[in-house]
Amino acid sequence: MKKKTAVVTGGAGFLGSHLCDKLISEGYRVIAIDNLLTGNIENISHLFGHPDFQFTLYDVTNYLHVAGEVDFILHFASPASPIDYLKFPIQTLKVGSLGTYKALGLAKEKNATLLLASTSEVYGDPNIHPQKEDYWGNVNPIGPRGVYDEAKRFAEAITMAYHRYHNVSTRIVRIFNTYGPRMRLDDGRALPTFVGQALRGEDITVFGDGSQTRSFCFVSDLIDGIYKLLISSEVFPVNIGNPEEITIKQFAEEVLKLTDSKSKIIYQELPEDDPKIRQPDISRARTLLNWKPKVNRHEGLKITIDYFKSKV
Ligand code: UDP
Repeated sequence: MKKKTAVVTGGAGFLGSHLCDKLISEGYRVIAIDNLLTGNIENISHLFGHPDFQFTLYDVTNYLHVAGEVDFILHFASPASPIDYLKFPIQTLKVGSLGTYKALGLAKEKNATLLLASTSEVYGDPNIHPQKEDYWGNVNPIGPRGVYDEAKRFAEAITMAYHRYHNVSTRIVRIFNTYGPRMRLDDGRALPTFVGQALRGEDITVFGDGSQTRSFCFVSDLIDGIYKLLISSEVFPVNIGNPEEITIKQFAEEVLKLTDSKSKIIYQELPEDDPKIRQPDISRARTLLNWKPKVNRHEGLKITIDYFKSKV
């Protein structure tokens, strides 16, 4: 049987590269596209030379042409950590808006299914807890995080419009905090920052009083959920994440313990619009996709810390 072809935008990124691996292992031909603004070629270097893998260095906010048949497009290109999107605000807005538009145009042209990587950031600093997909969110459009949040909200809107008006087959995954190997040590997110600091014996920088919460999902669980959504027929957004919630202070303490570090926690100013709580309600993923996370935080953190040890 002829192999199906999947295009992964942001294919050299943290999640994009894991998706490329998953799709290859499921028997797809994979075309990864990335402009390497925040992606890293090392994440996919093991796939070079694989007969079913191709890489194109390209900025997907421009006209997108792919030769031949395409069955799936997974739009994962975007700076995705708060310091990345503060550093590249215009690129973040462009890839979420123009990039999604171009990816949808390609899906329409090729009669392919498009899966949009959306985010828990569409819920902003949430007023309901845990967050369900029917919550419309509490986002500050002009705040520093607005460039990411609003780009993704626009991306969801245009994805639904292409589905409704052009009949394009679409999926929307709302991704909650995810961690694992191939995260960048310097991407500014809590986990790589804390692990880097703990391994180097530096102070651990907790922002605010550390009482804000997040719920962290190990990357293999997330990728499983996304793949299940891709091959389902669910058009409306689905949260994928691990509902196990923890305060950032507890999280820092966990990292200290698992790295056996003597570092001490120091407290710094909380960034503007930093969500105070975050936990996915995954009822839809459970019922529609028969999916739930399997890797507990302790296990996932150990794998991730081992990976970072080779990078510090
Ligand atoms: N955070 C922190 N210290 C750091 C980096 C992040 O205390 O060095 C906090 C941040 O303010 C937020 C939480 O950890 O409350 C998670 O931040 P991250 O950047 O990982 O992701 P977010 O969920 O905010 O997108």
